[in-house]
Amino acid sequence: MDFTYPPEAEAFRKELRVWLEASMPAFVGVGLGSGLTAEGDTLERLHEWNRLLADARFAAISWPEEYGGRGAGTMEQVVFAEEMHRAGAPPTLNPLGLSNIAPAIIQFGTEEQKRHFLPAMLRGDDIWCQGFSEPEAGSDLASLKCSAVRDGDVFVVNGQKTWNTLGHMANWCELLVRTDPSAPKHKGISCLLVDMTLPGIEVRPLTTITGEQEFNEIFFTDARIPAEALLGPEHEGWRVAMTTLAYERGTVANLHLSLRSKIRGLLDEAKATVVDADGGTAAQDPVLRQKLAQVYLEGELLKLVSERAISGAIHGRDLGPESSIAKLVWSEAEQHVGEAAGDVLGTGSNAGKWGRDRVYMRALTIAGGTTQVNKNILAQRILGLPRR
Ligand SMILES: Cc1cc2nc3c(=O)[nH]c(=O)nc-3n(C[C@H](O)[C@H](O)[C@H](O)COP(=O)(O)OP(=O)(O)OC[C@H]3O[C@@H](n4cnc5c(N)ncnc54)[C@H](O)[C@@H]3O)c2cc1C
Repeated sequence: MDFTYPPEAEAFRKELRVWLEASMPAFVGVGLGSGLTAEGDTLERLHEWNRLLADARFAAISWPEEYGGRGAGTMEQVVFAEEMHRAGAPPTLNPLGLSNIAPAIIQFGTEEQKRHFLPAMLRGDDIWCQGFSEPEAGSDLASLKCSAVRDGDVFVVNGQKTWNTLGHMANWCELLVRTDPSAPKHKGISCLLVDMTLPGIEVRPLTTITGEQEFNEIFFTDARIPAEALLGPEHEGWRVAMTTLAYERGTVANLHLSLRSKIRGLLDEAKATVVDADGGTAAQDPVLRQKLAQVYLEGELLKLVSERAISGAIHGRDLGPESSIAKLVWSEAEQHVGEAAGDVLGTGSNAGKWGRDRVYMRALTIAGGTTQVNKNILAQRILGLPRR
């Protein structure tokens, strides 16, 4: 593991800090936590923040300059994450579009698609969702059934998608459909960029266990999607999907920042929480101290895993299975922190942010590739065990 912050990354840090100091005060505390469940006033404020970021070319710094990014390298992206976290900047409104879907459009899109979709995505004027999973196709995504049949210059789409994050807010969807049912399952899939306002598309929100609205089911009934919605070659949507998923898993590299500050917050709360009749605090209790130490170590482990991935990227190594390690460590550590908070803070933590966290974080070992599937990847690609 070997990396340093080169002078250009430090110059970028300076520029970003100056900009944040001037722009952030008006947005302190807006949409704290997640932009996924924002509504009403908060949504409007987040939209304003996103436009501001886009105008300053800070909304997606890794994108090429011609589409509103800065063509930023790995260390600038690391600096960006550090500084936004340090400043407590609001989340982006369009996380799936910016981080996962745009890279697929940049790689596979026509020039017309790039010019049409990327600017509005950047400013949060268009919100995007991913229509990949189906009731019978999650981990085994290639078995998806939602069909698209060519009829002249349209695709007629029928079928169901599920667990679509932001589907209730999105006006565009990156949709995987089966266009050749006779081909082997990975070969007959295409990717369409779908206007969600077209007739024949119905979004039904799913309420999560935390009572929030974050993801949805989407039903397609004879929806007529223009043929120019095709992203990449027909029947080669699997390659497009893999680009999207690689970026989805790649973004976990920076997650140690929020995890570790959450752990620091819990340590502070433990020092202030009295747990016995003699006035001893949770931080002094021998059993609770071990639990706190355990989650602290998991946070530090995630930092090392992230830094190893960054070092690899700088030295030209593909992210590969390291993203699966980071995803595993991060998702389990988030759950362990929530559980530790329950033990340390007692029933008082059942409500409020810790209570929500404890329940919400259960989703992390499923979303974006389950723990078991990631372990299979590691077994094959790192341990060299046979495929099952
Ligand atoms: C918060 C959240 C947000 C999401 N957002 C989106 C989104 O925006 N768009 C979208 O398309 N999807 C989304 N998903 C869906 C997500 O991608 C799937 O839930 C995930 O891929 C798992 O698929 P599944 O739910 O069908 O479970 P299944 O694949 O049915 O798995 C069920 C269980 O079997 C295990 N299992 C499956 N296959 C294997 C195997 N080969 N070996 C060992 N164990 C196995 C799994 O680990 C799991 O425990 C989201 C999910 C969550 C939780």
